[in-house]
Amino acid sequence: MASVFLVEDDHHIRELAARALADAGHVVRTEGAAMPALQAIIDSAPDVVVLDLGLPDVDGSDLLRMIRAVSDVPVIIATARDEESEIVRLLDSGADEYVVKPYSGLELEARVRALLRRSQSAGQTRNLVVGGLVIDLRSRRVSIDGVDITCNRKEFDVLAYLAANVGTVVPREELFAQVWREPYGGADKTIDVHISWLRRKLGETAAAPRYIHTVRGVGIQLIDPTA
Ligand code: CA
Repeated sequence: MASVFLVEDDHHIRELAARALADAGHVVRTEGAAMPALQAIIDSAPDVVVLDLGLPDVDGSDLLRMIRAVSDVPVIIATARDEESEIVRLLDSGADEYVVKPYSGLELEARVRALLRRSQSAGQTRNLVVGGLVIDLRSRRVSIDGVDITCNRKEFDVLAYLAANVGTVVPREELFAQVWREPYGGADKTIDVHISWLRRKLGETAAAPRYIHTVRGVGIQLIDPTA
């Protein structure tokens, strides 16, 4: 349960989304325009903001920038602009998650829940530390034994998800759902490739693993080799 602030100018979408979130136990506030929303978000400090991009007064991407100037609140953007480049641009400019319109109430609620899980674990500690591995969730930087390593977005997300679940064997389906947010259908290869890249960067191999262990037929486990 969380306080969710929904910025959406379409009355029907607003009602539908608000009801779905409220049914899931969230406290929901809504606003139909950007400028009143900005003030209300500052005043009420919600746990999550759901932000429509097409607003009557100010473009949602501009509102996102204004929110980011004053707050770290997790933001889900709702966009009809189903273009990868646009979504990537918005994620880079401070959005944490997105839904593509038309979305269902259930889908939105699932996104809110996933984001809350992420932000709560990030809120407790901005760094995930496993042995010599340090993952800075805010700056998205990784170091191993004090040496920075460069990870692309997916590699980082895979590593962070495994580290957040250190010691647990994470099923491949779960890892794929969390990082790629797509149906699993035969994604073993994709996961294997990313795991292989990560291993190389961590200075280990499948034959001689230290941090990343593959549990055949089950999933992938990050362990602290120094423990
Ligand atoms: Ca709109």
